[in-house]
Amino acid sequence: MSKKVGPLDIYNLLPRTNCGRCGESTCMAFATKLIDGVYELEDCPPLFEDPKYAENLAKLKELTRPMVTYIDIGPKERAVRIGGKRVLYRHELTYHNPTAIAIDVSDDLSDDEIAKRAKEIDEFKLVRIGEELKLDLIAVRSVTGDPKRFSEVVKLVMENTQKPLVLCSFDPEVLEAGLAVAKDQKPLIYAVTEKNWKDVSDLALMYDCPLAVFVPNDLKKLRSLVNTLFEKGIEKVALDPGTFLGEGFKDTINNFTMIRKAARDGDKLLGNPLIGVPLISWTKPEAVPELTKWREAWMACALLLRFADMLIMHSYDVWVQLPLLTLRQNIYTDPRKPVAVEPGLRVVGNPDENAPVMFTTNFALTYFTVMSDVEKLDCYLLVIDTEGLGVDSAIAGRKLTADKVAEAIKESGVEQKVKHRKIIVPQLAARLKGEIEDLSGWEVIVGPRDSSGIPGFLQERWKP
Ligand code: SF4
Repeated sequence: MSKKVGPLDIYNLLPRTNCGRCGESTCMAFATKLIDGVYELEDCPPLFEDPKYAENLAKLKELTRPMVTYIDIGPKERAVRIGGKRVLYRHELTYHNPTAIAIDVSDDLSDDEIAKRAKEIDEFKLVRIGEELKLDLIAVRSVTGDPKRFSEVVKLVMENTQKPLVLCSFDPEVLEAGLAVAKDQKPLIYAVTEKNWKDVSDLALMYDCPLAVFVPNDLKKLRSLVNTLFEKGIEKVALDPGTFLGEGFKDTINNFTMIRKAARDGDKLLGNPLIGVPLISWTKPEAVPELTKWREAWMACALLLRFADMLIMHSYDVWVQLPLLTLRQNIYTDPRKPVAVEPGLRVVGNPDENAPVMFTTNFALTYFTVMSDVEKLDCYLLVIDTEGLGVDSAIAGRKLTADKVAEAIKESGVEQKVKHRKIIVPQLAARLKGEIEDLSGWEVIVGPRDSSGIPGFLQERWKP
């Protein structure tokens, strides 16, 4: 969407009935959030149901066309959306639709291994800053080349996961065997190539599934194949320009960058989601097995930074996924909104009237770090609303003041829970000590610089 399009341009083309079916009470609110990428046009049902809006709908489609189209993988109720990027860089506008991570399950494994792997991928979860970070898709890979085995494995995977699927083979016969089993799952077909395009594109039309286009290291041919598919009526495509090992990784990064910049400059053929395949690391394993995993991890991180909308990987070892999921979480967090938690008093463990009272800010990263350091103690933790800023920035920006601390102590009701009047403050807030004491009547004890020092500090210094 052009950055010059404003909410009024959108609003004027909407039905303007304020019917509320989109979840907003007014069409104006919907228009504003549509520009921010919170909604798609499909979220306004009247536009699509009533033929009198057809002309406006066509105009809206053109007006709101993102730089990169999106595709949905999986059945509607649990589809994973990839692409839909409206800008090249996150600082221009919040990124939506986080890079989806698909983990492979190959059909040469035993049934038990397949069921176990599918379940583990399904249940994989890391918690960071209060958010559950998960894997998104399972890529069922044909290694045997046997259509019958492929269909059995697709079925087995479906019995053990709720994750949407990617069906991987270049053989139309194999793909069709998988699609026949998984047609209601609307999987991503991976992939159409210059050699198989006629048969595989027929399958995409027949089963109404999105299609990955694989043309390694030749953007001209990639564009040409996408054009052929568009002419055939296939609109939902994702692009895989190849992921290469060694020196070839330079080409990979260059191709990803050139494709996305072409999309930014209005190239509709290249304005489609990008797929990276760090799984390639396993085709030439390193002498030390761990190095193959680390190579896959850093390739995945590099591709995520270079606009990949989806990654196909092999390892879901926590040390491979942790850096990737952390990076993804950071990139896909709205930079305009600091990550914050609810302010208020937290009761940790079973504190009594002599239990220590401490405070921290409601910046999520600080909060969860402090919480993990005190979770085995019995204490009260006062979380002060600093609009999501950490201690030092909040003090510098006057979001954390002695007034706020005194007020929070009063409002929290902690005065009724303990009989002492002592509060431990982070060392970074030491300069507020005198003022807090004057305003609250509580004695301020300056705590350790890092919250990991709290347990030791309490053992040594806490005398209620
Ligand atoms: S569903 Fe459409 S018409 Fe109804 S309030 Fe939302 S934007 Fe307006």
